[in-house]
Amino acid sequence: MDLRSMQHHDRSEEVDVVVVGTGAGGAPLIASLAARGLRVVALEAGANSEPGEHTPDELEGSDINWMDERLSGGGTPTAFGPNNSGRGVGGSTLHWGAFSPRPDARDLRLRTTTGEGVDWPVDPAELTGYLERVEDFVGVAGPEHYPWDPSRRYRMAPPARNASSDAMIAGCEAVGITATDAPVALSTEDRHQPHFGLRQACVNSGSCHQGCRAAAKVSMDTTYLPFAVAHGAEIRPDATVTGIELDARGRVAAVVYVQEGRELRQRCAALVLAAGGVETPRLLLHTGLANGSGQVGRNFMAHPAVQVWGRFDTPMRSHRGYPSSIISEDMVRPDGADFAGGYLMQNLGVMPLTFATTLVRGGGLWGRSLTGAMDDYAYYSGAGINGECLPSEGNRLTLADETDALGVPRARIDFTAGANEDAITAHAVPVLRSILEAAGARSTMVLDRTAHTIGTCRMGDDAATSVVDAHGRSWDVPNLWISDNSTFPSSLTANPALTIMALSLRTADAMLAA
Ligand SMILES: Cc1cc2nc3c(=O)[nH]c(=O)nc-3n(C[C@H](O)[C@H](O)[C@H](O)COP(=O)(O)OP(=O)(O)OC[C@H]3O[C@@H](n4cnc5c(N)ncnc54)[C@H](O)[C@@H]3O)c2cc1C
Ligand code: SF4
Repeated sequence: MDLRSMQHHDRSEEVDVVVVGTGAGGAPLIASLAARGLRVVALEAGANSEPGEHTPDELEGSDINWMDERLSGGGTPTAFGPNNSGRGVGGSTLHWGAFSPRPDARDLRLRTTTGEGVDWPVDPAELTGYLERVEDFVGVAGPEHYPWDPSRRYRMAPPARNASSDAMIAGCEAVGITATDAPVALSTEDRHQPHFGLRQACVNSGSCHQGCRAAAKVSMDTTYLPFAVAHGAEIRPDATVTGIELDARGRVAAVVYVQEGRELRQRCAALVLAAGGVETPRLLLHTGLANGSGQVGRNFMAHPAVQVWGRFDTPMRSHRGYPSSIISEDMVRPDGADFAGGYLMQNLGVMPLTFATTLVRGGGLWGRSLTGAMDDYAYYSGAGINGECLPSEGNRLTLADETDALGVPRARIDFTAGANEDAITAHAVPVLRSILEAAGARSTMVLDRTAHTIGTCRMGDDAATSVVDAHGRSWDVPNLWISDNSTFPSSLTANPALTIMALSLRTADAMLAA
């Protein structure tokens, strides 16, 4: 993004707020606070780029992913790298898929309604107001009539369907499942984004996960961050935070970061950590802060995200066109389920390297079976889920003995899917398979996987069992706030980014009111 006319602050000046990270959790808050006249400095470990610099090449495109090593353990280790988080001005929204369902109100009351998991300390109606603010500002396309929430309105028509979308619609119709165009955070018409300029209508290139060259896909560097900079915020790219300094009263006084090999500090009156579900708890464990509850790093969650791929007789070329254009919410609370919560379904289209990696990791394919499946790549179409993951204290991020190049211990994440997640996957596989078979798939294969990095600094109403309060403020360090997907007390069935952005605006309002 264009940072040329950006305001600069002196490091010796005490700015009002330093924000670590410029993704979905950081950017809306940075924009809100700057618009209200606060002096905000955002420190971002990754580089700044322009949309036109993105490339659909999967190998070259990985420079927008967080590729630093993370240690992954447990019974069902999570895959990191391109599967899990981003790096750069814009964070993970540089490479996200822009599939943007709203959270289901029942998921925010999971404990009350099912006896499992936890309730969120957030009023669903209040959250909806923030979701609508985000949708209005960034632009979300969707169907004219949303079957599971008739009150909802999307202002832009959905993107064009591809062969894989058509297959999912046909298969769902045949087996009696309701499916429609998904809510997606991209423009389907040329759009003037305030302080950024023209975001072109989606050209259906299918390379959303490598970054959108047309700026059609919502990314923080084409929406909230240009707005923030126009209102005086400063963004420092390539600046990795390694330490936090406290004053004599135990409040944050300054942040230590490394930029161009130099260790620097920025004084601040308040600090917001928006570094994501792995780097935020890692920084807190490294500095020993905000962990009076002992909950930092605990309750790591990853959505069950099993995929079923069908081999069709005719080419599907599911990598062409916007990849996740169909949704079904029929299984958010399926009848007769033996688990708490439920799952969303969507169609899939992936680039070849991602497909190959998932065949290996999720399907155990190797040698001739792998090359055979890749030979048929163009004939495959897939459908997958995003399912509830219950919080569990044993699923935990800790610090490893190894350190990174800046001397910070690496994160180790141990994750084992629980009985509830296994039951969701077991329920979903035959449903997905029946959809693909009804659409004409000759054979199917199941690729197991999880998605997203959630939890680790949960919000709550009780300082003994949560890291931050219901608005993201640390119970232990009053001028430290967290705004990213680490604060989720449970995973929700909805994909997370829209909710993260909404909570980010809500945390900004709480900071302004404090
Ligand atoms: C391939 C893929 C597809 C996805 N598709 C979807 C989708 O379709 N829909 C959806 O809702 N979600 C999707 N997600 C998930 C979604 O993108 C993330 O959940 C969300 O963007 C996370 O936002 P965040 O602000 O918590 O963290 P991030 O966006 O990851 O932001 C953290 C930022 O902090 C920076 N940072 C970290 N540590 C430091 C440090 N020490 N110092 C300075 N900066 C630091 C990072 O570089 C990064 O820019 C997808 C994720 C992946 C990987
Ligand atoms: S499919 Fe559309 S939103 Fe995705 S990268 Fe291409 S132009 Fe951008």
